Parts: sequence; C-alpha cells; structure tokens
Amino acid sequence: MTSPASGDGQPDYAPIPPSARGVTPNEQGYYVGRVERNLYWVTDGVYQAAFLATPDGVVLFDTPPSIGHNLRRAIDEITAAEGVTNRVTHMVYSHHHDDHTGASSIFGSDVVRIGHEETRRLLLRDNNPARPVPDVTFADSYTLEVGGERVELSWRGPNHTPDNIYIHFPDHDTLMFIDVVNAGWVPIYNVNLSEDVPGYMAAPDIVLSFPWTHFICGHLGRLATRDDVLVHQQYIADIEASAREALASVNPVPYYVAGGENFWAGVKGHLNAVTERTAAPVIAKYTGVLAAADIAEFTYSTAFQIMQSLRLDRGPSGPVHP
Ligand SMILES: [Zn+2]
Repeated sequence: MTSPASGDGQPDYAPIPPSARGVTPNEQGYYVGRVERNLYWVTDGVYQAAFLATPDGVVLFDTPPSIGHNLRRAIDEITAAEGVTNRVTHMVYSHHHDDHTGASSIFGSDVVRIGHEETRRLLLRDNNPARPVPDVTFADSYTLEVGGERVELSWRGPNHTPDNIYIHFPDHDTLMFIDVVNAGWVPIYNVNLSEDVPGYMAAPDIVLSFPWTHFICGHLGRLATRDDVLVHQQYIADIEASAREALASVNPVPYYVAGGENFWAGVKGHLNAVTERTAAPVIAKYTGVLAAADIAEFTYSTAFQIMQSLRLDRGPSGPVHP
C-alpha cells in the first residue's frame, strides 16, 4: 500500500484479514466464553485471561489490568449461571509482566498465588503492590488440583521472559502460553518484546509437543489453533532464512568506508541494510496473511533481533582475522 496517509495521520495499512478478527466485547468491554467444560476465557479484544469454575472455588489464570474489574464481572456471570461459588481461591501467573498480572491485587490477599520461582524473584525485584508475589513456587513443574480439576504447570527454559511457563489443562484439551504466538497477528516490536531470542524461536515446537485443541495465547480476540502456531512458526522461519541470506550477501565494506573514523556509523549502515533486506520479502509474503505484517517497524525490529541472534548467539559474528 503506497497511498498517502489518511486524515488521522496513520498510514493506510492493509485491511485486517478475516482470520485475525475476534469476538465482540459486551457493553462493559469484556467477552467471556467457554473453552471446554468449566474452563473459560475472558478478553477485552486485545488481552486474554482464563479461569476454571470449580465447586471448590475459582482458579484464575492471569489478571491483565486492561480487563481489570471485568474479570470479577465475568467470573460472577459464569459462576451464577453454573451455580458454583464465585470465590477466587487460586491464581496462576503465566509470567511476571505487569500487562498480564497488574490487576492481581484486586482479588485480595486471601488467594493462593502460584508461579515460577523466577516470577517470584522478578516480582520481588519490581516491588509493585498491584502484583503480590506468588506464595507457591516451582522450578520445573507443578500440578495444581482444585475441585477435582487438574492443571499442569511447567517451565521449559527462558523465552519471552525468563519465567514464562506452559499451563496445560489435560482434561480440557487446552494449553495456555502467553506472549509468543499472537493468533492471526504478527509479533509486535522485537520478537514480541522478548528477552531470549533462541528461546522464543524454539517455544512453538514445545507448544506443539503438548496435546491440545484450544490455545490461549494471551492476545487479541480469539483463541488460537494449531494452524495459527504453524503460520507463526513459518513467519519466524522465513525471517531466519531471509536473515541468513542477507547476512551472507550484503557487503559491509562500503558502509564502513562511508563511516570513516565513525565506526558506529558503519555498523548502522551495514546492519540497517541487512535488516531491510531481511524484512522486505517477509513483509510482502505475510501482508494479508498475518494482521499488521505491513507495519514495517514490527517485522523490521523482529528481523533485526533474529538477525542479531544468528550473529551473536549462534555465530559466526564475523570472519576470524587471519
Ligand atoms: Zn509479557
């Protein structure tokens, strides 16, 4: 799309593909739907949380502040209809990030909070009363049993954050894993604002190694499918292949010559050229397939991170001086 910016100053991006559209929130700004049996998901259209409504209490999975008090309304609506208690007895943190946990404290202190041991360490560091630290922590795996239901929590290494865990509901055919795959949409800036790029790139294989039909990925307005994970994986694999090609084919010498004694100007010229060459074919391929692929900053900054990870994590970063 090369048409000029529209009146609101936004460039004219490609239309959102139908596959990226989600549910419509109600007048209060939330949608709550059944995932399977007594497992429900809640969204405001951009963020997602989930809860199990058991006879012994509600188990809440994440508390995005953008949904906030609508979590309480969604739980009250469902538990009243199902005739079970609306008391939240347990809460699970997917990871420590505030945009997925910042409404935790509105459920009070009489809740058992569960999270990875690294989540506890990071929440102690961040020292935010809106996000009480977990009371129960684990290193590798933890089985939560409440009201006859079973949830398997596991940590399989750092990815988006050092503490991001897999939340498997084996009796609900569902996996919850946040901030790696965005159903129908590209990752936002810098591989979805992730800290460990090789871990981020490896995570979808782990996601697919669990048995599930429904996937709660944390963002946008619908649940994800196994096909969504495959499309995301292909987008990342295409960026990786394109970055390898660009690293091998862009000649750095002219950029360093042009930079003269300003070495960092040479670095900028070279790496920008590699990033542009990496991103361009991927933007062309995925525009109309994954929503917002044509927001160049997103694919460009993700391409930059992956290209840097290929150089710095895997190597070689450059030729060895003879
Ligand atoms: Zn996050």
